[in-house]
Amino acid sequence: MNDDLNDLYQEVILEHAKSPRNFKVLPDANRVAHGTNPLCGDNYTVYLVMDGDVVKDASFQGSGCAISKASASLLTSIIKGKTRADVEALFGKVHDMVTTGHADDSMGKLAAFAGVHKFPARVKCAILSWHAAKAAVAGGGTVSTEGDEPKAE
Ligand code: ZN
Repeated sequence: MNDDLNDLYQEVILEHAKSPRNFKVLPDANRVAHGTNPLCGDNYTVYLVMDGDVVKDASFQGSGCAISKASASLLTSIIKGKTRADVEALFGKVHDMVTTGHADDSMGKLAAFAGVHKFPARVKCAILSWHAAKAAVAGGGTVSTEGDEPKAE
């Protein structure tokens, strides 16, 4: 097995980091959540248009490493049309995947992030936008991967 960085930076991650999808502000967003990962310097805002419990549109803005950006790009593509419960369930699956490396067939392109589990410092990069999305579907707010530290805001 090749356990080096090539394994981490899979093609799908590199491609989404280079050409992120939904990388814009949604002017009609009714849910906004901000996520920060101070360890890496990743900083993103997730915008959602929700109709009741359903995500009608999703986008993000911000800056950070390739993994965090690719993760936010895939996230905002995947959660369109999903319900709050779907997003929360998917958060759980992504969290399991990036911490254990196990990905089942339902993960699709998200399986590209399974290799992150070998690099514990990068798990927070991969999961950051999911934390923000989970906060956004619940009403919005600010989340940090360093939950025990005082927030800057
Ligand atoms: Zn990062």
